[in-house]
Amino acid sequence: MSNGAVRDDAPPSTATEGPAMYDLSCSRVTKKFGAFTAVSDVSLDIPSGSFFSILGPSGCGKTTLMRMIAGFETPSEGDIKIKGESVVAVPPNRRNVKMVFQHLALFPMMSVGENIAYGLRCRGESRAEIGKKVAGILDRVGLPGTTDKRIEQLSGGQKQRIAIARCMVLEPDVLLLDEPLGALDLKLREHMKIELKLLQHQFETTFLYITHDQSEALVMSDQVAVMNAGRFEQIGSPKALYDAPVSGFVAGFVGDANCLPGTIADMSGTEARVMLDDGGAVVGTVSDGSTVGDAVELFLRPEALSLRDGEDGMRVAGTVDSLLFNGANSRILVKIDTGQMIEVADPSHTAAMAEGDPVSVSWRPERARVFARRTR
Ligand code: ADP
Ligand code: MG
Repeated sequence: MSNGAVRDDAPPSTATEGPAMYDLSCSRVTKKFGAFTAVSDVSLDIPSGSFFSILGPSGCGKTTLMRMIAGFETPSEGDIKIKGESVVAVPPNRRNVKMVFQHLALFPMMSVGENIAYGLRCRGESRAEIGKKVAGILDRVGLPGTTDKRIEQLSGGQKQRIAIARCMVLEPDVLLLDEPLGALDLKLREHMKIELKLLQHQFETTFLYITHDQSEALVMSDQVAVMNAGRFEQIGSPKALYDAPVSGFVAGFVGDANCLPGTIADMSGTEARVMLDDGGAVVGTVSDGSTVGDAVELFLRPEALSLRDGEDGMRVAGTVDSLLFNGANSRILVKIDTGQMIEVADPSHTAAMAEGDPVSVSWRPERARVFARRTR
């Protein structure tokens, strides 16, 4: 990667592969609006048939990047390739990508069949061919026999599937999805996450999915690029991002973590003793070059913490503040003696705990990650 984002599980070198190894590549893409840089030096390579997500907070540049890929914006710098061919000079309608928008943009007054047929008609395909393709794609998205239904008769989940069918019937090289679940209620969103992943598997088409919701990105994706203020901070599998974040931004944005701000007091190898801002000292592992005297944050995943007696490693005393019941994801909120509240996920202890119980929270130093303090 040329842009500084860390890629921990890059595919093998392209030396022996043809140019179409990647369905989509961006190389050092930048987009400026006047003096403001919305997308800064972004590079990515998406292998054929994969589910790739861009995850980042609202305003970080996700839609701008996607609009450049679709051809609605021109990069200020850099190159974009689809199946190995540069498309920067190719107009949107001649790029073989399709985009599903957050609000789906279905034609509400038309039938399901007319919505799906629209793009095929624009291409001048025959009535017989269109009829066959529409029926075929409705089967594939699990809505056979709905050709004559009106869009407004459909449920939210069915509209999603029609929006995808309308794109997929045109057989794009890449399907672009811009926060398509944003308008759905929580329950349906949970369901559609799984459904989208299954649809992508079934079609074997490359999906580029953008979202600010880390759980969507983690559940669905083969690879995720974490984006912050126009830049990619890290590209990796969901597991790699979760287990081995390269920055405080990634550690804090992907998955749940307790975050304790402090300053490094001393170090031995990569192990650091951090004086916490609120008092007390704890031990963690530095993985970004932070050193003695630096302002840092120490990140602790709730499930990296144990309330068992006799665990090795770092240990702090505290008191159970409250139990946060959430079925299998229940947590224990512990006020540690240095003053901070931390969430502990220790299923073997949750049921036995009561508010006010004295506890001792322990972790292995390598599971407490220390990063330079975030400035934004
Ligand atoms: P995201 O999709 O991650 O929420 P966007 O790509 O929509 O973010 O926007 C990134 C930044 O670029 C925002 O600050 C937004 O205001 C700005 N931006 C987007 N489009 C334009 C434009 N056409 N002109 C000026 N600024 C823009
Ligand atoms: Mg957006």
